[in-house]
Amino acid sequence: MSGPTNAFEIAQQQFDRVADQLELDDQVREQLRWPAREFHFRIPVRMDNGVIRVFEAFRVQHNDARGPNKGGLRFHPAETVDTVRALAMWMTWKCAVANIPLGGGKGGVIVDPSTLSDGEKERLVRGFMRVMWRNVGPRQDVPAPDVGTTPQMMGWMMDEYSRITGQYTPGVITGKPLGGGGSEGRTEATGFGVIYTVREAMKHLGIDPKTTTASLQGFGNVSQYAALGFIEHLGGKVLCVSCWDRNDRTSYTFSKEDGIDPRFLMSITDQYGTIDKEKAKAAGYQIEDGGAWITKDVDVLIPAALEGQVTGESVKLISPKVRILAEAANGPTTPDADEILKQRGIFVIPDFLCNSGGVTVSYFEGVQNDQNFYWSREEVLKKLDENMTTAFGSVLDMSLKKSVYMRDAAYMVAIDKVVRAMKLRGWI
Ligand code: NAD
Repeated sequence: MSGPTNAFEIAQQQFDRVADQLELDDQVREQLRWPAREFHFRIPVRMDNGVIRVFEAFRVQHNDARGPNKGGLRFHPAETVDTVRALAMWMTWKCAVANIPLGGGKGGVIVDPSTLSDGEKERLVRGFMRVMWRNVGPRQDVPAPDVGTTPQMMGWMMDEYSRITGQYTPGVITGKPLGGGGSEGRTEATGFGVIYTVREAMKHLGIDPKTTTASLQGFGNVSQYAALGFIEHLGGKVLCVSCWDRNDRTSYTFSKEDGIDPRFLMSITDQYGTIDKEKAKAAGYQIEDGGAWITKDVDVLIPAALEGQVTGESVKLISPKVRILAEAANGPTTPDADEILKQRGIFVIPDFLCNSGGVTVSYFEGVQNDQNFYWSREEVLKKLDENMTTAFGSVLDMSLKKSVYMRDAAYMVAIDKVVRAMKLRGWI
């Protein structure tokens, strides 16, 4: 099937499809099909060898009708402004569907962070803030970590902003380290949030979670806590997880018939989400090729690694037993696979609903920063559960009311909220 491959064209096409169904008029579409503002700039950095290198950077602010722009900052060698535009637009929908009062934004720097020393990384992120400080802030645009950036980098950026403005301002950025303005519960937020939506889907479908099994792709931040949550919160069994092995440059699936132990696997996984094969084998794990995760006879599939993993081809390998596909990753399903999932009646929890736990706790972090009063982990996770449950309910209601696919329903809920805020503010 042919179609756009550029992420921003895909994002615009998804929007157009639902805009048609909602019969949005052109003045609304023109404001939502494009980012409201974009910053393209270059950051000179003195490298450790004394030479200045210049890095190309972007910050895209898609829409702030519902609140300050919100979204991560990516460091990637193949970053493009179109990818950043698409991700900024998806953030607008994610915040709206999660019903948190924030808009959509995203940033990117064209760089491979693994080639930089800590000092070079610090000078680069401080340079980003020196360019952007007038256009970010707790009431304007709040960046966060994303691919290739870390809590420590957020700490440096918060410090740079606070120094320039002369005021300690932790709310300028989220995903900060604990003790440096970060929130309890942020590490597990996305994975646990995925599981709260799976629990709600099971309630709707009349499935007893204790009898269920799951297979996950990936074993990084999201997958680790989704696997733990599936076992400890739902009482189900996880039959396998997978990972990309950075040394072999290939992927593997790690399975155990009586269920994997995520805490053990976490203890033998490095910071990039690569599991130690020898130690896993010694503990009785079966190691298969990376594609095996999608073929398992399980009730729930959770792609939690990369975009574009459930394709027109791989979707054919999904077992008839599978009832739920929980999109923990961003954009894991291609449009042609989506059509087949629909026909087969597999219940899809769409990505910007399923993985919105991360941005929800980022929002909680900002709230705690504003009030300079911090919550316990239990309180954060309780509020996260309530928020995710409500968000899931609003999308399911829309899907049932309009007899539409869950992905379209999520778009409808999100676009409706953003358009309503634009109207109330007199933008349309
Ligand atoms: P991560 O880098 O911590 O982990 C990624 C995992 O995927 C690693 O275990 C890696 O080995 C594995 N992987 C990579 N390529 C693979 C392949 N071909 N086959 C099998 N495994 C492979 O990333 P993460 O933070 O867990 O994010 C995972 C996904 O969730 C991404 O799509 C991300 O955009 C999305 N997401 C993350 C968050 C968050 O809070 N971390 C929030 C929303 C969405």
